[in-house]
Amino acid sequence: MLANLQSKNHIMKIIQCLEDERTFYEIAADILKYVEEYLNTSHAYIVQRDLEKENYRIVIRYDRDDRHQDAKIIDEQKLQLCGEQMVYAENSRGTYGEELHLLGAECGIGIPVYIKNGQAVMHILILDAEERNFSDEELEYIANVSLIMQDIAQKKVSSRSMISTNGILKAILTNIGSGILVFDMEQNTVLFKNTIAETSEENIRVLSDAMKSMMEEKEHLIPKRPVEFFDAESGLWFDVAFSKLSWIDGRDVVLISSNDTTLKKKNSTRSAFQAQNDFLTGLYNRMKCEMDLKKIAEQTQKNGQKGAVLFIDMDNFKTINDSLGHDYGDALLKEIGVTLQGIVGLRNHCYRMGGDEFIAIVTPENYDLLNKILTNITTYFNRPWYLIDSECYCTMSMGVVLFPENGTDVNSLIKKADIAMYEAKHYGKNRYVFYRDQKDDASYRRLAVESSMRQAVEASCEEFVVFYQPIVNTQTNRCVGCESLVRWNSKALGFIGPGEFIPLAEYLGLIVEIGDFVLETACRQCKEWNERYNPDFSVNVNLSVVQLLQQNVVKHISEIIFSTGVNPKNITLEITENLAINDMERVMKIIDGLKKIGVKIALDDFGTGYSSLNYIKQLDFDIIKVDKSFVDDILTDDYEKAFVKLIVDLSQQIGAKLCVEGIETREQYELLKEMKADSIQGYFFSKPVPAQEFEQKFLR
Ligand code: C2E
Ligand code: CA
Ligand code: CA
Repeated sequence: MLANLQSKNHIMKIIQCLEDERTFYEIAADILKYVEEYLNTSHAYIVQRDLEKENYRIVIRYDRDDRHQDAKIIDEQKLQLCGEQMVYAENSRGTYGEELHLLGAECGIGIPVYIKNGQAVMHILILDAEERNFSDEELEYIANVSLIMQDIAQKKVSSRSMISTNGILKAILTNIGSGILVFDMEQNTVLFKNTIAETSEENIRVLSDAMKSMMEEKEHLIPKRPVEFFDAESGLWFDVAFSKLSWIDGRDVVLISSNDTTLKKKNSTRSAFQAQNDFLTGLYNRMKCEMDLKKIAEQTQKNGQKGAVLFIDMDNFKTINDSLGHDYGDALLKEIGVTLQGIVGLRNHCYRMGGDEFIAIVTPENYDLLNKILTNITTYFNRPWYLIDSECYCTMSMGVVLFPENGTDVNSLIKKADIAMYEAKHYGKNRYVFYRDQKDDASYRRLAVESSMRQAVEASCEEFVVFYQPIVNTQTNRCVGCESLVRWNSKALGFIGPGEFIPLAEYLGLIVEIGDFVLETACRQCKEWNERYNPDFSVNVNLSVVQLLQQNVVKHISEIIFSTGVNPKNITLEITENLAINDMERVMKIIDGLKKIGVKIALDDFGTGYSSLNYIKQLDFDIIKVDKSFVDDILTDDYEKAFVKLIVDLSQQIGAKLCVEGIETREQYELLKEMKADSIQGYFFSKPVPAQEFEQKFLR
């Protein structure tokens, strides 16, 4: 069907050559080119018989890559290609195999072109360097070409009207397969119709419509390009071409041809489908996304509405692909495609951008649903995916960009959504993040801190330094211990305080390695000071929630402590209050385990969380550290004073020591001493300082 249609189109092109004013050879060269294009053979020739020498010479040659218009004479005598009448197809093993080989071909067809008195003066020779079989359609096509070529030659020879006889005209026009109607411009009558134009109902309708529309035009102006007609009754599409010709007797006629293009149209919609769709998921692809977004964003801005672009990227697609195989990866992508399409408000606006990246556009009509859509997507991705025969989890990170708020340009919208998606990944994946204009560059700073921190940790934490802040006994006024506090002197970013990098290190999990480094350093330091100055001097080490909830945390910590040889009784691990209540039972178990090592446990930042005093009783802390915020105004604020007094009493009841942090003035110190807080930590004595300085000031 398709081949047939193409052959028709090609024949129409060749028919148009009938009216060409150039020389026969020039026209014939073009025709060879068309023939070659259609048949996709390696060469096409027109060879002429040299009557005197009884051989053939190539007058026109068209090679697939190289076109020679000049006649090229072949000297071989034995190029006796065919009987005078017949069209034949050959392969190199056949009768004319040798000749074909001479021309560098494995197969070929030769068709005589008759002129004048029925003599074959030339042949069209179609050759291919590879063996092939020509189909009936192709043979018919070649025969038609030869007829047209004949007419052209005849016309040039007689230099009179184009077509020599009605018989040939009919033969050509009937064979074409299109509806053909020849209209006499002078008489306003139909001069000729081919079989199709007479018998096929849809062609009859289309041609008569075409004729009418032409007659309505002043001076019967005809369109230069084929016009598309739709025949509603048959549901078929036609290209209707109009060409002005001189009829046999010199009359001016218009040849109207109707060409059924329904199939071509279907194919082109299919290729438009292919061009705009992702073959795996059936969703639209990147190209269509860009097209749609451009339209939607412009329209949205014009109408003063709002829309959003959601950029979705799988969090662990690669793992699934690598561990389960590509079939599962593909199945997952398909599932995701179906799921996204099914979310209310997203239908027809989901796109696969490539790999495991998807985009969904929330149009202004659905903008009200945005939050719901975001929740729905998150919910779906928190559920397992059922793939082929197993289930797996694959979460996503999503960046959300709003238009026109964040821009209207397609590329920048997609890029910003991508940036936000990247943010979501860095905040821990499995979430969505709205794009923010990063003029504050907070998130860029964060990314820089992150990458430098990873490098610093990989380089054995060498950029990290442990400082020590004295803890002073209120009764003796002596420094009995210290708290170890980490500092980061980043080569790339300069000094960074723990307030900035510890939360990020916790979030990235890097706190485990950093924490190990601090613990080990502090334990070694403690051991050294114990040996040199005071066997009871103790060092506090902060333990992050993340460290505490690691598998085998007790074993891990005890290994570090024992490896340093420090006496565990001189080590106090500080755990923050917020953690303690979040997972009480688990924390209780861990604390028990740690205490068995022999270390002390301090509850840090007391008063900032929500732990009830009851919990504190249960948890059996050795030390309670009251947060700085309770002493800032303790001299003037009665509530603060009452609170601290209560904690002092309570700690005595439960047998825990009380340490108050953040003492900055002598007055504060005196008051707490009076209130019987056991120990004090604060700038009043010293800020955290490097080990050497600490040693000099507080141990010698
Ligand atoms: P934190 O455990 O509550 O440590 C006490 C913080 O209060 C320290 O801040 C200390 O310098 C500061 N501070 C002490 N006395 C005063 C004072 O009189 N006035 C004022 N304004 N501040 C005082 P730093 O060293 O910046 O540490 C901040 C936080 O970072 C710590 O709070 C702790 O939560 C965390 N951190 C520090 N080092 C480590 C570590 O090695 N591991 C873990 N997990 N966290 C650490
Ligand atoms: Ca602390
Ligand atoms: Ca604290």
